[in-house]
Amino acid sequence: MMEIKLFNTLSGKKEVFRPLRRGEVRMYVCGPTPYDYSHVGHARTYTAFDVIHRWLEKRGFKVKWVMNITDVDDKIIKKAQEEGVTTTELVTRFSQEFFRDMYILDIHPDIYCFATGHISEMLEVIKKLVEKDYAYVIKDGVYFDVDKFKDYGKLSKQKREELVKHRIEPNPNKRNPGDFALWKFKKPREPNWPSPWGNGRPGWHIECSVMSSKYLGEQFDIHGGGSDLIFPHHENEIAQSEAASGKKPWVKYWLHTGFLNIKGEKMSKSLGNIIPIREALKKWGPEVLRLFFVSKHYRSPIDFREEHLEQTRESLERIYNLLDLLKLLRKSKGVLSEAEIELKEKVKNAKKEFVQAMDDDFNTPKALASVFNLVKEINRFIKNKNEINEALYREIDSFFKDFSSVFGVLQKEREIKEEIVRELIELVIVVRDELRRQKLFALSDEIRKKLKELGVVVEDTKQGTRWRFQH
Ligand code: AMP
Ligand code: ZN
Repeated sequence: MMEIKLFNTLSGKKEVFRPLRRGEVRMYVCGPTPYDYSHVGHARTYTAFDVIHRWLEKRGFKVKWVMNITDVDDKIIKKAQEEGVTTTELVTRFSQEFFRDMYILDIHPDIYCFATGHISEMLEVIKKLVEKDYAYVIKDGVYFDVDKFKDYGKLSKQKREELVKHRIEPNPNKRNPGDFALWKFKKPREPNWPSPWGNGRPGWHIECSVMSSKYLGEQFDIHGGGSDLIFPHHENEIAQSEAASGKKPWVKYWLHTGFLNIKGEKMSKSLGNIIPIREALKKWGPEVLRLFFVSKHYRSPIDFREEHLEQTRESLERIYNLLDLLKLLRKSKGVLSEAEIELKEKVKNAKKEFVQAMDDDFNTPKALASVFNLVKEINRFIKNKNEINEALYREIDSFFKDFSSVFGVLQKEREIKEEIVRELIELVIVVRDELRRQKLFALSDEIRKKLKELGVVVEDTKQGTRWRFQH
């Protein structure tokens, strides 16, 4: 039996995937902060998890995928103030824009949950942490005491002393510079909610601990996001959740994506080098973007380079054309020729390689290589043949359907009225034969040349005119 292996940031190793409940996978991925349009860096991370979602389903698991929307945070407050709108107005607008981007990219989590819709649940957990003495109240908020949580640093593999050094905001009232806010007390003109300790708003980390466990259970299988979230966000999530429930591990597998870079720098709003998903979709469309993302392993960085997108567009078009052509060459006939038997073997191997690659930590570039190798073999095959056995065609078609449903490409319907194409070619041949009979060779040669350019080879033989598709 084949097994899925995945790289777990928590253990730092590739592990055999065994979900906590048989046949079921519960997965949470940190979502965006919608204070502006989302960019292609976000699209990279969410496409990666979408492909993981699709592959797990293909392998027979029932997957539940939850994504949060951070709808209260410093950046949102600042942008809303700049635009003279309420934070609710701002996040309503940009979360809708985000849902639209995800929909067009064919990415569909089962649940989107908003932080501000879960304040009471967050307060419950913070209360528990205060009662258990993991959290304390000071002038500006309620803080988590990282010294109380002995496993702090286990995800990012850092020692507590090291972590402390990296903190940016030294707050003299905190017990330890590494302590982080669970609840921030109200500041003027900021959205706020009542709490047992005073009005305020939640810190960023608590929303993910609370919402993931609300929808997926106290312990669940996969938690993911970009690798920038390993520390402090995910480290803090683990601390809060395991301290509150007393159960370990809160999450069994931690998966992190590499950055999408542009000119060697991480694409991010703060660096001012973003390409909105919206713009990229207009230029390349969802399928080219998705195929481009999967051309690199999800843990590796990827450079957003126009020439690579252009190459991806051409590759995708070549596969579409090949499948169109193959459809036209179908013939129902009994035995397979030698060339067909060989091709059948290659299809079988490509299938095996594809599955092996995807089972090995979702190795999409390797899986894609098996697809492109098969494309090469099919091209070689049809160079010399103008027909393909219907049963073999169906096997090839099923391989491509499998591949395209996992990667979310080749979904466009390109209907070809096959019979009409054939009849039109026959008609042109009849007209050309008549021209030849009238010795109008210049014109008949011109027709032959034009047909060749269209991929139709005309041969004048003693038995009459023959034609075949050429690739
Ligand atoms: P943010 O909007 O920055 O909170 O990011 C939301 C999600 O997108 C997080 O999982 C980030 O790690 C991920 N993300 C943001 N920028 C990039 C990028 N340039 N490449 C890959 N993932 C990113
Ligand atoms: Zn999160």
